[in-house]
Amino acid sequence: AKAQGRGHVVEFDWTMDLEAQELMLLEHDLRSAIAGEELHLVYQPLAGTSTGIIAGCEALLRWEHPRLGNIAPDRFIDLAERSGLIVPIGEWVIRSAIAAAAKIDPGIRVAINVSPMQLRSPNLCAVFVNALAASGVAAERIEVEITESVLLADTEANLAVLQKLRALGLRISMDDFGTGYSSFSYLRKFDFDKLKIDKSFIDCLGQEDSSDAIVGAIIALARVLGMRTVAEGVETSAQLDLIRQLGCDEAQGYLFSRPIDLEALVALVGSAPAM
Ligand code: C2E
Ligand code: CA
Ligand code: CA
Ligand code: CA
Repeated sequence: AKAQGRGHVVEFDWTMDLEAQELMLLEHDLRSAIAGEELHLVYQPLAGTSTGIIAGCEALLRWEHPRLGNIAPDRFIDLAERSGLIVPIGEWVIRSAIAAAAKIDPGIRVAINVSPMQLRSPNLCAVFVNALAASGVAAERIEVEITESVLLADTEANLAVLQKLRALGLRISMDDFGTGYSSFSYLRKFDFDKLKIDKSFIDCLGQEDSSDAIVGAIIALARVLGMRTVAEGVETSAQLDLIRQLGCDEAQGYLFSRPIDLEALVALVGSAPAM
């Protein structure tokens, strides 16, 4: 059996289980989504915990599938990584997010998620350099978010890439801090600009003494190491009060805003001054 779509032909193997077949179809669709107009970015604001003023935003990928509707990144990023498609998709994300940064108030930073496989792509630095040059955006406004898995494998090579990105002026953040196997040991390997404390710790704030203690310790440690801190997934004002008391710099979460499209972001933070 064959499925036809946009010049590609997929051969089904009926001995594969259903999940594997679904994944193969989804991968085929994702390949054409890159060429088509089904991928877009939304932006979630980050605010200072004591000022409430928006200081930045995180670019988040969305896939509007023609038949299946919106597919969440949790469902397709993994697939994109395993198929290698994350490299061209990630390049598109970098160019689009930096182009968006050029359209908004220059006081606002833009964070971009970069997955481990992208770090191994020889093009990565050039993609950043070209996008920054094309848009005239200052490198200091762009934050590269990586997860701990980046430092799990090929550590030396990945560290060298992070150093190169840093040398361009980009900021480097560690995402989902605290969920990995040896989070703390990575802090010795690279001097991150920012730690993003994983939502799973923020969820339990004020309900579990252990969560409060862990978050407090992460913030205190980051401060000693000269890193800024962001709490992810802040949904209640009680959580905001707690992280502010613990000294966390910024908050990101539904309490402030869900991810929004570029038009809404411009309306929220203001546009770049006319040239
Ligand atoms: P992440 O980097 O940890 O991004 C934060 C996720 O938490 C986003 O989910 C965001 O919508 C969600 N979130 C933020 N505040 C709240 C809150 O208050 N409550 C709840 N329940 N959720 C909140 P999203 O957009 O579904 O993205 C999921 C993951 O997919 C991201 O997690 C990131 O790992 C990955 N991802 C998204 N866009 C990209 C991309 O362009 N490239 C790569 N490599 N990965 C991406
Ligand atoms: Ca992130
Ligand atoms: Ca995160
Ligand atoms: Ca997370």
